Amino acid sequence: MSQGVLAIAEQVDGVFRKVTYEALSEGKRIAGSLGCDLTAVVLGSDVENISKGLGKYGADRILVADNTALKEYMTDAYTNVIADIIGKENPAVVILGATAVQGRDLSASLSARLNAPLAMECVEIRVENDKLIATRPMYGGKIMSEVALEGKPRIVATRPNAMAVAESAGAGSIEQLDVDTGKTVLQFVEKKMETGKIELTEADVVVSGGRGMGGSDYSVVEKLAELLGGAVGASRSAVDEGWRPHSDQVGQTGKVVSPNLYIASGISGAIQHLAGMSSSKVIVAINKDSEAPIFSKADFGIVGDLFEVLPLVTEEIKKLKG
Ligand SMILES: Cc1cc2nc3c(=O)[nH]c(=O)nc-3n(C[C@H](O)[C@H](O)[C@H](O)COP(=O)(O)OP(=O)(O)OC[C@H]3O[C@@H](n4cnc5c(N)ncnc54)[C@H](O)[C@@H]3O)c2cc1C
Repeated sequence: MSQGVLAIAEQVDGVFRKVTYEALSEGKRIAGSLGCDLTAVVLGSDVENISKGLGKYGADRILVADNTALKEYMTDAYTNVIADIIGKENPAVVILGATAVQGRDLSASLSARLNAPLAMECVEIRVENDKLIATRPMYGGKIMSEVALEGKPRIVATRPNAMAVAESAGAGSIEQLDVDTGKTVLQFVEKKMETGKIELTEADVVVSGGRGMGGSDYSVVEKLAELLGGAVGASRSAVDEGWRPHSDQVGQTGKVVSPNLYIASGISGAIQHLAGMSSSKVIVAINKDSEAPIFSKADFGIVGDLFEVLPLVTEEIKKLKG
């Protein structure tokens, strides 16, 4: 199947998202199995300088589409440009991060445009007998399915935090592309983002609070999250109560997170919440009900009142950090 692997980088305001390095590292590994090159694609405005660094993550070539019309992610402009690049490059595999702000939308749009197979939210990818096989969750994470993709190019969108970042030298030669954003119907108006906030799906540590928080004062959760350099998450109940914004919601109808450490406090462990966090590497549950279902998913459980436990944990970590 080998014709090269194309990894689509994702940047926001000139900074690559961590998932870009994950997609490139995984792309390099797949390219190694297929015996072909890895080509990175960067879209944006004024992005040539930042693109140079992608060789460090295995990119042999880096195609840069620098155009003011590409400054912000827009489905139709990005799809037009990348579909064009795919047409010229004819890659066997296209890999990108399944992010809420870009990758999920873009991969679905490319799949529809190119009539190409897509595996979304992949947590593992391998090449077996010249077949590309992706492991992805189904039914809200209740099962892991293995799908063999057929057709071309095979598009794989990787779950943020699921793939390891590995540095491996690629030639990293930059090629500037002349791009035509084509016919677009969407127009960028305004971006509303909370600055300085760690993106939930990319955080190494997530400290979440549910209905057990009893109100919008999340300071015990926020203090621990800050100390651990992590992000704050919430259950849907907490979001429905208006205690946290929807962007913090973890679960089936919220975000899917795979941090190294997930701390669920005052969260019962409903299946819809588990769908969003069960692939976390280590799960710690704090709940005053020893029968709460979350404990069956947790690696470590603390039965107690979160308003007593969280400050104690925070103090102990402060001491450990000196
Ligand atoms: C279609 C659909 C989609 C959904 N999508 C999502 C989703 O994306 N994300 C999501 O989270 N839910 C989702 N839900 C809702 C889900 O079913 C649960 O209702 C929700 O997850 C419960 O939130 P909770 O655990 O915070 O609240 P509860 O189930 O009410 O649990 C609160 C927990 O806090 C504990 N507690 C209370 N006080 C304290 C204290 N002081 N200290 C320690 N523990 C305490 C209690 O013992 C209890 O276990 C969805 C539901 C449906 C039908």
